[in-house]
Amino acid sequence: MPVTSDVTRPDDGDGDLPINELFYSLQGEGRLAGVPSVFVRTSGCNLRCWFCDSYHTSWEPTHAWMDVDEIVAAVAGYDRADHVVVTGGEPLLHDAVVDLLHELDARGYHTTVETNGTIHRDAPIDLASISPKLANSTPTPERDPAGEGEWAERHERDRIDLDSLSRLVADHDHQLKFVVTDETDVREVEELLSRLRAVAHVPIRDGDVLLMPEGATRDRLAETRDRVAELAMAHGYRYTPRLHVDLWNDAPET
Ligand code: SF4
Repeated sequence: MPVTSDVTRPDDGDGDLPINELFYSLQGEGRLAGVPSVFVRTSGCNLRCWFCDSYHTSWEPTHAWMDVDEIVAAVAGYDRADHVVVTGGEPLLHDAVVDLLHELDARGYHTTVETNGTIHRDAPIDLASISPKLANSTPTPERDPAGEGEWAERHERDRIDLDSLSRLVADHDHQLKFVVTDETDVREVEELLSRLRAVAHVPIRDGDVLLMPEGATRDRLAETRDRVAELAMAHGYRYTPRLHVDLWNDAPET
């Protein structure tokens, strides 16, 4: 179901969520890669990674407003799927996502929430797929896709929140997914893991740390994935593919 900015509805309901797209596909990343899933993509993000692969939820957010009941009904329309991926943007920005997760849980769906790890909510989440953003994500003036680096300072200030990260890993089955390109990025991952392990109340296993190559197109992935696979082997972390890019390149609703 494509949802675009052409679909308008006043933001007059407490329980509404801005939905950028809602569709059925295969999970492309992480430990559930390949699992048929309904994706509920909310619009809006508190960060601005220069390489954002959901540009229309961050740099140029577009959406339609949908009630939680409407979203649940749309999800139920895909009767082959019992996995739901709530993604963004940053889905935990929105109060109503908690209601949505409770409704999905009550109906027996397995839910994955894909988050940048800067916000914690008390909500039923079966898998918290946490993707803390490294320094390589900052939209410096040279890399800013939409301006001259106006977001860089805020992005850099907000991209890591140790308190939220430690609560997310303590409350939920989790995977920590990092977009990396080289050894420098992996050193930064290790430094962050060390800080997180010092404050988290649960073990953070290397097997739950995933290295993902940067690249939202097949051409870019072809440049980055071999090196990232080698880094995963060298450091004992897990490599995650970007199955949806391999299969469908950068097509929407994948
Ligand atoms: S945190 Fe995720 S959705 Fe937000 S700008 Fe970065 S890549 Fe895009």
